Amino acid sequence: AQEVGGSDKDVVREYFNNTGFERWKKIYGESTDGVNKVQLDIRLGHSKTVENAILMLKDGRPLTGVTVCDAGCGTGSLAIPLAREGAIVSASDISAAMVSEARRQAEEALDGGGEGVAMPAFQVKDLEGLEGKYDTVVCLDVLIHYPREKAEGMITHLASLAENRLVLSFAPKTFYYDLLKRLGELFPGPSKATRAYLHSESDVERALKKVGWSVRRRGFINTQFYFANLIEAAPDSAMAAAAA
Ligand code: SAM
Repeated sequence: AQEVGGSDKDVVREYFNNTGFERWKKIYGESTDGVNKVQLDIRLGHSKTVENAILMLKDGRPLTGVTVCDAGCGTGSLAIPLAREGAIVSASDISAAMVSEARRQAEEALDGGGEGVAMPAFQVKDLEGLEGKYDTVVCLDVLIHYPREKAEGMITHLASLAENRLVLSFAPKTFYYDLLKRLGELFPGPSKATRAYLHSESDVERALKKVGWSVRRRGFINTQFYFANLIEAAPDSAMAAAAA
């Protein structure tokens, strides 16, 4: 939908370069100064999503040398620990402010990180502009910015970049009304609540099925104010080969 003064995506970019950047940097940070109860709760929920995504990714094999695309990387909450595990990380975000903060944090956290630890390659890029092939594509808590009709195309695109795995987290539709009431100022305006798009697990699964991918594992993370479905999908061909 076109908005006065720009498309949805322009509004999201503008938000995450300004108010949203400050707000989410605080939420994803470590300091408790000026962080309210709701924000602390979201920090906790999000950290569980990151932790669980890393567990999913590490399961069965080390991440050393595995190429990972972190699509919509924010401040690097996932890209940095993955790099520490030896993954070759390409991390991008629509917001230049987010990317520069992620790079700053990575330089601080990974400086002299030891043998086999490479700095993630950071890039300012929207999801649509991503290209190339990666072993694994991860996209955490970004689909909330995609309306239903665009989410399917985005899931197809992300799957096309991944050779083996796609890990996604998204706020489930089940909690729709409740969430809208609570999300308030955490999403881009002008009508902030209308800017948070929730997705049903079955819609996401259907989008994956259409391109020959299936959900291999799933999880659900929730705290008081944070809800996320976390799924790991793989191409059906790979699953059939593994079962044979
Ligand atoms: N994935 C990160 C994490 O879990 O820590 C950040 C999640 S944050 C709620 C959402 C991020 O998605 C923001 O950094 C925002 O700039 C980014 N984003 C929103 N729309 C995007 C798009 N179309 N392409 C790339 N990034 C986008």
